[in-house]
Amino acid sequence: MKTAVITSTTYQNHDTGPGHPEQTARVKLINKELKKLGNQIHWLNSSSFDHSILEEVHDKKYLKKISLNFPKDGTQFLDGDTVVSSGSKQAALDAVGSIILGIDKIINKEFKNIFCSVRPPGHHAESNKAMGFCIYNNVAVGAGYLIKKYGYTKVAIIDYDVHHGNGTQEIFYNNPNVLYVSTHQYPFYPGTGHQDEKGLFNNILNIPLDANTNNEVFFNSFDKVISKLKDFKPEFILLSSGFDAHTNDPLAQINLSSKDFYEITKRILMVANEICDGKVVSILEGGYNLNALKESAYFHVKGLIEN
Ligand SMILES: [Zn+2]
Repeated sequence: MKTAVITSTTYQNHDTGPGHPEQTARVKLINKELKKLGNQIHWLNSSSFDHSILEEVHDKKYLKKISLNFPKDGTQFLDGDTVVSSGSKQAALDAVGSIILGIDKIINKEFKNIFCSVRPPGHHAESNKAMGFCIYNNVAVGAGYLIKKYGYTKVAIIDYDVHHGNGTQEIFYNNPNVLYVSTHQYPFYPGTGHQDEKGLFNNILNIPLDANTNNEVFFNSFDKVISKLKDFKPEFILLSSGFDAHTNDPLAQINLSSKDFYEITKRILMVANEICDGKVVSILEGGYNLNALKESAYFHVKGLIEN
């Protein structure tokens, strides 16, 4: 079976304004780079889905408020750094739609594993708050969908974006069906992610990293991710794939190389293959140096193909 990449055309219509780091070129360059993998990957387009699934992780009031906040023209700020334009609504829905489609395709055994190359990202969005470039919490909706639609009781979310996924943590803090594991620079934006934040059912594992952490220290810490995964024995693994722990990323200070994202992927897939038949769907979160981002995403997808 092949690895698939799901993207959308609408990500290009999510206009964050000039100079914003979460820009259209991010996905455009990743997709161009991934074309180099030729027929090793299969391309799919994001599809529509039943929007009621959003209510599994977001408050109804928030969803209503957000749907009314997409401007007809120009841009609108949802928080200090989360900007939306008229095209953002469909882009945001298609980002969620990509992970929903990806899950269905993996459960139907059509593909080996899947990477969703979409924007806006999701892991900072809380149940009732847009934040940090994120509107809907894509990966959280994916976990909610696995539980609601397929009756899964053990879903793991691994988040190696350099920022803590405060939204994902908030949404699942009291949910024993979801394990959330995050490696992130700390103390740093968004301020959460202390190791004492463990979830009501010990279902959260935060691995804070000092600024200037190198790859050796990173991978030593990553052993904790692997052993937590092995203990939890998930039925399905979702990845919040941010590539901003790259040494050249302008928004953080962790020193990974592009190839290190191959190694991260390989280590996760070793567990996935052993425990959950390799069932993995990965979705893009951050990554803001365009060159580092496209290279890192390339090595991640290569890792999905080869392991
Ligand atoms: Zn990030």
